[in-house]
Amino acid sequence: MRYSQMHLPTVREIPSDAEVISHQLMIKAGMIRKLTSGIYSYLPMGYRVIRKVEQIVREEMNKAGAQEVYMPMVQPAELWQESGRWEHYGKELLRLRDRHEREYCLGPTHEEVITDLVRNDVKTYRQLPLNLYQIQTKFRDEVRPRFGVMRCREFSMKDAYSFDADEAGAQKSYEKMFTAYNNIFRRCGLRFRPVEADSGSIGGKYSHEFMVMAETGEDAMVFCEKCSYAANLEKAEVVSPGKKEITAKSMLPMEEVHTPNMRTIEEVSAFLNVKPENIVKTLIFNADGKPCAVLIRGDHEVNEVKVKNHLEADELELADDEMIAKATGAPRGFAGAVNIKVRVIADYSIMNMTNFVTGANKEDYHLKNVNLDRDFEVKVFADLRIVEKNDNCPRCGGKINFARGIEVGHVFKLGTKYSKTMKAVYLDKDGQEKTMIMGCYGIGIGRTVAACIEQNYDEYGIIWPVPLAPFHVIITPVNINDKNISDAAEKIYRQMLAEKVEVIFDDRDERAGVKFNDADLIGIPLRMVVGQKNLVQNKVELKVRKTAENKLIDIDKITDEVKKYVSHALNEKN
Ligand code: ATP
Ligand code: MG
Repeated sequence: MRYSQMHLPTVREIPSDAEVISHQLMIKAGMIRKLTSGIYSYLPMGYRVIRKVEQIVREEMNKAGAQEVYMPMVQPAELWQESGRWEHYGKELLRLRDRHEREYCLGPTHEEVITDLVRNDVKTYRQLPLNLYQIQTKFRDEVRPRFGVMRCREFSMKDAYSFDADEAGAQKSYEKMFTAYNNIFRRCGLRFRPVEADSGSIGGKYSHEFMVMAETGEDAMVFCEKCSYAANLEKAEVVSPGKKEITAKSMLPMEEVHTPNMRTIEEVSAFLNVKPENIVKTLIFNADGKPCAVLIRGDHEVNEVKVKNHLEADELELADDEMIAKATGAPRGFAGAVNIKVRVIADYSIMNMTNFVTGANKEDYHLKNVNLDRDFEVKVFADLRIVEKNDNCPRCGGKINFARGIEVGHVFKLGTKYSKTMKAVYLDKDGQEKTMIMGCYGIGIGRTVAACIEQNYDEYGIIWPVPLAPFHVIITPVNINDKNISDAAEKIYRQMLAEKVEVIFDDRDERAGVKFNDADLIGIPLRMVVGQKNLVQNKVELKVRKTAENKLIDIDKITDEVKKYVSHALNEKN
């Protein structure tokens, strides 16, 4: 490609809403342009990188036995009503009507469509297992689109769906995708980690997120410094400390204390001069319309996902004042487990506490020296809190550490969530009707590109790893008006094209400094400079963008040298 003919509008200014480096560099390097909030166009340079990611994804998906399909983006409401998600999906689902007033949505994901597709054509066990995937546009009306294409509203996703006859098959399909994802992100040249994740609203029991390590990542993750355990913050487990024997002698008499208007842990702690770790916090949740009290040590935070999963609730939120008043007989801020009339569940953190403070279920009062078993009973202890710095690894007891990441992919075991409600069934060997077992597997294509930039840049611009680079080498003649130089550059360019090298030829009539800056900004892995001084010795200069390593190479060897470099870099990740 000739630079002079390419639509590659690099810019110096960055828009004020570009908070993260990948967003800034994608604008500056002429890769993307915003159409409207959360909706972007890819320009030629950006789209070439997209195609690189897509190609790697296709190769690995095909290798894993998945077959490519292409489903519609506009989806009829009926299918979503059938799965029950029309009501539940909320405002991220963009709903629309056609001229006949029929309702549709723009697909944020394709479980409904694929389940419908498969149930209509797959009738017997002989047609299973099946894994179908597509690379296609999704629309999610995100509350806060930001970070450019990293969290946008319209984006391209690779989504795959597996259908199996039994649990063992479904497990195998899941593992195949898990391996394929590891291959994909490794080939993309990313530093990443698969982490255990909650399966959220999509359902199912088993799930991993693929996190690209980045300080700017929106997601917090936890990993063990000793073993391979890694999980996202929602999922990260805290193990039970085990119940210790508490002697009745050590229990002090319970007393009611006046705590006027002291509602928060901080207020009560300061007022009564007790540490937060000696207070039991009681939170009233509304779980599918019913109140439930959750007890936790004052200095910890409740993990609502764990509470929701424990209660097997469809909807969970903190109770409103009315529900709290009804459940405790007191306004917000004075709830406690003693004599409470609602269901109580307790986090492991309170299991061995003694003589603690808690709300009295009475306005402006707390209780002191409260003790488990003597003053109230807890039937269920569970892991209900957010993991913290000093916790131990749930697998090996090692030290837990925290990191930030960008979720680029997600693999889920769906079980029969969709196949059951939407009746995706098949006949087994004995002619018995059985429900198919599903899995779903997504990769954000644009987000992967942005995440790659977050890991590969410097003060001058992007530094593409070879597998995702839009071009592998840029030829930069220092002065295009010097016939010697331009002829030599042109000759090398033609030779590289003939040898199928992905080359961009900066044939613009610009100062060398401008060309060097642009080459650094767009991040081409190799820059080849044609200048008078080296030309007299029949040599050109080859510079590696990543390491700034610089070599003089004979003109007749340059194409081979570039090819060698590229093939080495590609195979390294393969
Ligand atoms: P997030 O928690 O970041 O919103 P998600 O859990 O909603 O992601 P999935 O439903 O698992 O995402 O979608 C699969 C993949 O699609 C994600 O791993 C991510 O790479 C990509 N993706 C999801 N939402 C967006 C978005 N708004 N913009 C760009 N890519 C996205
Ligand atoms: Mg989301």
